[in-house]
Amino acid sequence: MAGEPQDDCLFCKIVAGSIPATIVRETETTVAFRDINPQAPTHVLVIPKAHHTDAAALAAAAPELAADVLRETQAVADEEKLDSYRVVFNTGSGAGQTVWHAHAHVLGGRGLNWPPG
Ligand code: ADP
Repeated sequence: MAGEPQDDCLFCKIVAGSIPATIVRETETTVAFRDINPQAPTHVLVIPKAHHTDAAALAAAAPELAADVLRETQAVADEEKLDSYRVVFNTGSGAGQTVWHAHAHVLGGRGLNWPPG
């Protein structure tokens, strides 16, 4: 069910603390941790603690929680002292989503080209 922890979800396990992650920020509703395969000097993932499969599902089911995630991307950028950065929600396999728990990538610390690949 939307919002409930899923036994087979990697990011639910990070929320639960049952697999390790380098956590940089935590709020009542969100966790931010460093991506294990960084694509930029700063590459942090911000996730809702509640399980929603992707950004579309999160926005539809829990818009205030989606706003919490977005607010935290800004907080991460501030902490990492990024004046330019990119926030990405890969949504659907065609867009490269591989982990089915909504997450915002916060990327910065180098020049970022547009359009992305
Ligand atoms: P993609 O793998 O194409 O970036 P996603 O947008 O679904 O697809 O992003 C999932 C992200 O989760 C990837 O950047 C990946 O490196 C990261 N990741 C996978 N496992 C872990 C982990 N255990 N700890 C931190 N980040 C992880």
